[in-house]
Amino acid sequence: MPSAGPDFTRLHQLLQNLKSVQDKLVRGPRQIKARQKKIVAANAVLVDKEGELKSLRAESDRKSLDLKSKEAHLLEFKRKLNGAASNREYEIITGQIDADIAAKAVLEDEILEYLDRVDTLQDEVEAAKKKIADLEIETQKFADDFKQRAAGMQQEEAELNVKAKEAQKVIPSEVREQFQRMVVAYGPEAMADCTDGVCSNCFVQMTPQSKVLLNNGNSLFCGSCGRLNYLANE
Ligand SMILES: [Zn+2]
Repeated sequence: MPSAGPDFTRLHQLLQNLKSVQDKLVRGPRQIKARQKKIVAANAVLVDKEGELKSLRAESDRKSLDLKSKEAHLLEFKRKLNGAASNREYEIITGQIDADIAAKAVLEDEILEYLDRVDTLQDEVEAAKKKIADLEIETQKFADDFKQRAAGMQQEEAELNVKAKEAQKVIPSEVREQFQRMVVAYGPEAMADCTDGVCSNCFVQMTPQSKVLLNNGNSLFCGSCGRLNYLANE
């Protein structure tokens, strides 16, 4: 009985290793892109926060100007109070002064509140800037690291391609082209080993004749899923 099993197993293993290294080569740039997307999103957050901070500061400045004019107003009323010609006039001015003092207190509270919010927002802007810087460092490091590893992986891919091509000689020449098309479509899943006459891809039981063929060290395409069935070596 020919012992072709190990050769099929080796070919399958080579195709799996090839797929694994190809996946890693594809995944690297995708992971870099995902990190760059995070940087773009973090930058958008920063722009928002800076815009909010700018308008909050403008609002706070406006309130401070209001307060200054309120204070000037108050001084003016106090001057008028000293020159009040009658009790009636005195009362009116006193009422205006009281109203101005109350309005001034409200403004002062509002300004304090604004300053508080400006402080918080300033911290948030700094945090957003730091987050971007950290992400940029991390992304650069990841990209450099991947670039370094990619050269080795490309070398490995080339070597595995050569080995897999060589190992494909175990496939009978009349079906090799069909098998290669399967590999293009399914990668290592073009092959499926069999245990107890069951295809490991589709789990369909094969015919007794197919079992005999496999046991004799042949390979054949699964009648159900079309994968190349082979008998794995023990
Ligand atoms: Zn199958």
